[in-house]
Amino acid sequence: MKFVHDTLGQRVRFGSGAAAEMLASEVTERGAARVMLIAAPAEQRLAERITKDIDVALNHHEVVMHVPVEVADRARQSAVAADIDLLVSIGGGSTTGLAKAIALTTGLPIVAVPTTYAGSEATNVWGMTESARKTTGVDPNVLPKTVIYDAELTVSLPVEMSVASGLNALAHCVDSMWAPRADPINQALAADGIRTLSEGLPQVVDDPGGLPGRELALYAAYLSAVAFASAGSGLHHKICHYLGGAFNLPHAQTHAVVLPYVLATNAPSAPQAERRIAGALGSADALSGLAALYAKLGAPRALRDYGMEHDQIPTAAAALVKVVPESNPRTLSTTDLSALLEAAWAGDNPGHSWRT
Ligand code: NAD
Repeated sequence: MKFVHDTLGQRVRFGSGAAAEMLASEVTERGAARVMLIAAPAEQRLAERITKDIDVALNHHEVVMHVPVEVADRARQSAVAADIDLLVSIGGGSTTGLAKAIALTTGLPIVAVPTTYAGSEATNVWGMTESARKTTGVDPNVLPKTVIYDAELTVSLPVEMSVASGLNALAHCVDSMWAPRADPINQALAADGIRTLSEGLPQVVDDPGGLPGRELALYAAYLSAVAFASAGSGLHHKICHYLGGAFNLPHAQTHAVVLPYVLATNAPSAPQAERRIAGALGSADALSGLAALYAKLGAPRALRDYGMEHDQIPTAAAALVKVVPESNPRTLSTTDLSALLEAAWAGDNPGHSWRT
């Protein structure tokens, strides 16, 4: 075994029903006097509950998926004008993403309170969109100093969005098996993330208001994001990143749809990863394990249901062939990528062991 593994420094506080208390301790310990609260209008009521014990100097509500640069610029100007010393983000990956965009240019610390399973809070990756092109980068300043996980905050996330978001987390885990910096540490985190998600997500579907499944899903979202931050973007993330930016597709659903096709494509060339994923799913083989989970969850299955047009496939395949990571277990031609996208667009059976 030979590898180099960087661990990101971050505090994690986890406690159901304890977000307000944990946030107040965090603000006091940090000596923050001018907090900027970032929360989308839809998460306002949640945010009011969580910030009831702290002083908020500035409320910022303009949150847009994939962080358009003009939205980031307005938020940065507001933060500087209000002399902010701490960013508190409450919401899904789009909200965390905006806090990261502010931190990128101002160096302000972030305390992130996630309300989905996207996992952005545990990575040092930022993303912004300009003219239908999504740019991402890595910067230590954008890693939230503290993450506050409270599973009660995810109870209001509708089941369909919970499933898609949970499968976004699962995709972080699966892709971490063969991403450019995959190593035994991030693979171990990923394997336990897969196991925990496959236990927690069906509970969320059966009992959306119950905490046990929500806690497992949220904990696994963290594992998955730590694995992803360390392993980097594999084939799956390269595909979804492009589709999201170029065609403005919804992030979580796009990941959920594409995952079975990437697994079916890579698994035969990555037997060790395949066995690890199968084991974590409690199945004889990885693809049939994923099929069983997707069936239990009523998972999203076709890109055409989420706004992708059929005539966008050739453009996407031509762009994606240039970004397939060298670490990918097999090489892929434009024709291979077209076939993958064609099947994902239509929701076709991803492989022979996919049975629903
Ligand atoms: P999102 O943040 O856009 O939220 C999706 C929807 O769910 C929104 O309408 C939001 O208002 C609603 N919502 C959020 N929490 C809720 C709750 N508890 N109850 C009810 N409704 C709720 O979507 P997302 O999937 O969380 O995040 C997607 C974004 O995150 C993308 O831009 C993606 O690129 C980014 N992301 C970044 C990283 C990274 O490492 N940088 C990782 C994952 C995702």
